[in-house]
Amino acid sequence: MSEHQVYKLPEALEKKGITLKCPVCGSENFMVSDSLRDYLVPAIDKDSGFKVNFDKGLPVYSLICENCSYVLNFSIQIAETIIDGIPSKE
Ligand SMILES: [Zn+2]
Repeated sequence: MSEHQVYKLPEALEKKGITLKCPVCGSENFMVSDSLRDYLVPAIDKDSGFKVNFDKGLPVYSLICENCSYVLNFSIQIAETIIDGIPSKE
Protein backbone atom coordinates (compact mmCIF):
# COMPACT_ATOMS: atom_id res chain seq x y z
CA MET A 1 0.00 0.00 0.00
CA SER A 2 1.27 3.43 -0.83
CA GLU A 3 1.78 5.85 1.99
CA HIS A 4 -1.02 8.08 0.79
CA GLN A 5 -3.72 5.44 0.62
CA VAL A 6 -4.49 5.64 4.34
CA TYR A 7 -5.57 9.24 3.82
CA LYS A 8 -8.59 7.89 1.95
CA LEU A 9 -9.95 6.45 5.20
CA PRO A 10 -12.72 9.04 5.79
CA GLU A 11 -13.96 8.47 2.23
CA ALA A 12 -13.75 4.68 2.64
CA LEU A 13 -15.75 4.84 5.88
CA GLU A 14 -18.38 6.94 4.18
CA LYS A 15 -18.77 4.26 1.51
CA LYS A 16 -19.41 1.76 4.31
CA GLY A 17 -22.17 4.02 5.61
CA ILE A 18 -20.13 5.30 8.54
CA THR A 19 -20.25 9.02 9.22
CA LEU A 20 -17.39 10.32 11.32
CA LYS A 21 -18.67 12.16 14.36
CA CYS A 22 -16.67 13.65 17.20
CA PRO A 23 -17.34 11.69 20.43
CA VAL A 24 -16.93 14.85 22.51
CA CYS A 25 -18.95 17.54 20.70
CA GLY A 26 -20.76 15.67 17.92
CA SER A 27 -19.25 17.74 15.11
CA GLU A 28 -18.72 16.08 11.74
CA ASN A 29 -15.95 18.44 10.65
CA PHE A 30 -12.40 17.14 10.93
CA MET A 31 -9.09 18.43 9.72
CA VAL A 32 -5.85 16.82 8.71
CA SER A 33 -2.55 18.53 8.08
CA ASP A 34 0.68 17.38 6.54
CA SER A 35 2.43 17.41 9.89
CA LEU A 36 -0.40 16.04 12.04
CA ARG A 37 -1.66 12.79 10.60
CA ASP A 38 0.73 9.87 11.07
CA TYR A 39 1.80 8.82 14.54
CA LEU A 40 3.24 5.89 16.37
CA VAL A 41 1.79 5.16 19.78
CA PRO A 42 4.63 3.43 21.62
CA ALA A 43 3.91 0.23 23.51
CA ILE A 44 4.80 -0.34 27.15
CA ASP A 45 6.77 -3.56 27.48
CA LYS A 46 5.73 -5.34 30.67
CA ASP A 47 8.48 -7.94 30.25
CA SER A 48 11.23 -5.36 30.43
CA GLY A 49 10.26 -3.20 33.36
CA PHE A 50 7.49 -1.27 31.58
CA LYS A 51 9.90 0.47 29.25
CA VAL A 52 8.69 2.22 26.13
CA ASN A 53 8.94 -0.06 23.10
CA PHE A 54 8.62 1.64 19.74
CA ASP A 55 9.00 -1.59 17.75
CA LYS A 56 5.76 -2.92 19.26
CA GLY A 57 4.02 0.43 18.88
CA LEU A 58 0.77 1.10 17.07
CA PRO A 59 0.91 3.20 13.89
CA VAL A 60 -2.09 5.53 13.86
CA TYR A 61 -3.70 7.96 11.44
CA SER A 62 -5.15 10.98 13.20
CA LEU A 63 -8.04 13.30 12.47
CA ILE A 64 -8.65 16.39 14.58
CA CYS A 65 -12.09 17.81 15.36
CA GLU A 66 -12.24 21.37 14.05
CA ASN A 67 -14.79 22.35 16.69
CA CYS A 68 -13.27 21.08 19.96
CA SER A 69 -9.76 19.82 19.02
CA TYR A 70 -10.42 16.22 20.07
CA VAL A 71 -8.06 13.82 18.28
CA LEU A 72 -9.37 10.60 16.74
CA ASN A 73 -6.77 7.90 16.16
CA PHE A 74 -7.27 5.08 13.66
CA SER A 75 -5.06 2.01 13.37
CA ILE A 76 -3.25 2.34 10.05
CA GLN A 77 -3.07 -1.46 9.66
CA ILE A 78 -6.82 -1.89 10.05
CA ALA A 79 -7.52 1.22 7.96
CA GLU A 80 -5.58 -0.33 5.10
CA THR A 81 -7.78 -3.44 5.10
CA ILE A 82 -10.91 -1.24 5.11
CA ILE A 83 -9.66 0.86 2.19
CA ASP A 84 -8.60 -2.26 0.27
CA GLY A 85 -12.05 -3.79 0.76
CA ILE A 86 -13.91 -0.84 -0.76
CA PRO A 87 -14.38 -1.18 -4.52
CA SER A 88 -13.32 1.91 -6.40
CA LYS A 89 -16.16 3.47 -8.36
CA GLU A 90 -13.94 5.66 -10.52
ZN1 LIG B 1 -15.30 17.79 18.74
